[in-house]
Amino acid sequence: MPTDLITPQDPRSQYPGPPSEVELQAAPATQQQMSEKPDCGELSYKGSGKLAGRKALLTGADSGIGRAAAIAFAREGADVAICYLPAEQADAEEVANYIREAGRKAVLLPGDISHEGFCQRLVSDAVDQLGGLDILVNNAGKMGKTEGILATSTERFDSLMKTNVYSLFWITKAALPHLKPGASIINTTSIQGYDPSPNIFDYAMTKAAIANFTKGLSQPLMEEHGVRINAVAPGPIWTPLQEADGSEEKLKKLGSKTPYKRPGQPVELAPVYVLLASQEGSYITGEIYGVTGGMGVA
Ligand code: NAD
Ligand code: MG
Repeated sequence: MPTDLITPQDPRSQYPGPPSEVELQAAPATQQQMSEKPDCGELSYKGSGKLAGRKALLTGADSGIGRAAAIAFAREGADVAICYLPAEQADAEEVANYIREAGRKAVLLPGDISHEGFCQRLVSDAVDQLGGLDILVNNAGKMGKTEGILATSTERFDSLMKTNVYSLFWITKAALPHLKPGASIINTTSIQGYDPSPNIFDYAMTKAAIANFTKGLSQPLMEEHGVRINAVAPGPIWTPLQEADGSEEKLKKLGSKTPYKRPGQPVELAPVYVLLASQEGSYITGEIYGVTGGMGVA
């Protein structure tokens, strides 16, 4: 893995292709158990003070894309609260160490965002322990596997909606009264939101809802609160979610439909989260930023 994102190089060979050996994990998969670790910027992301003094809450930030955003935010000067499932404590401790190494405050808030009461406590604990809130990243999500609509249970459908969609509503609603003009909300949607794979139709629905929520709220949030809201739509990214929710066959082909012929790494999304969080993104709201390796490009 390269240790910097600055030296010009061929992006096709910047990171490896899909893994040759695949080890599936039970959900929630952890980064510590992955045999081929993703690059979440631990050695590669360099900050330059773009978020100096900000206070950020990110969900699903123990691993994968959220971890890359959390490490980048801390290196850009933000204090960072991260939410994750209790079973992911070891991954979260690693992220907390990176945040502290950057000289910033780390707040660990484990819990299950598919419950409204936890979402409300999460926001109030983050605000209390950070001393305010400027940046909210709604990134946590689950995917799972389906075998078509007839094999999809109401329990699975309900759990997906609660985790991916209701949590967005609950956390954003709880956070908004704390956000001052200049604050930023960033949601993680997916290429699946507009180009759904049939075998994960219900997950794709939640990602479409996240994109729509982002666009729908952008006007009132700016007019009434001076708050920006945007989303990032990743393509195929090498993260624990893939080991929990993919199949061996799918994993061995991850990213092979992109012109890069490789999956993206979480750190390759981090600069977009930083841009959307920072004042450099002042005129950007209601947008969906794709980081897809060229997938879904007409
Ligand atoms: P990941 O497994 O590293 O992160 C997902 C995180 O969601 C987990 O770490 C977990 O902490 C959190 N989470 C799940 N259910 C939760 C619950 N009930 N309560 C609290 N936290 C919960 O995988 P990732 O790929 O980095 O996923 C981050 C986001 O990116 C997700 O929303 C996912 O849908 C989205 N995404 C991923 C890809 C990809 O290819 N990896 C592509 C498009 C979108
Ligand atoms: Mg995780």
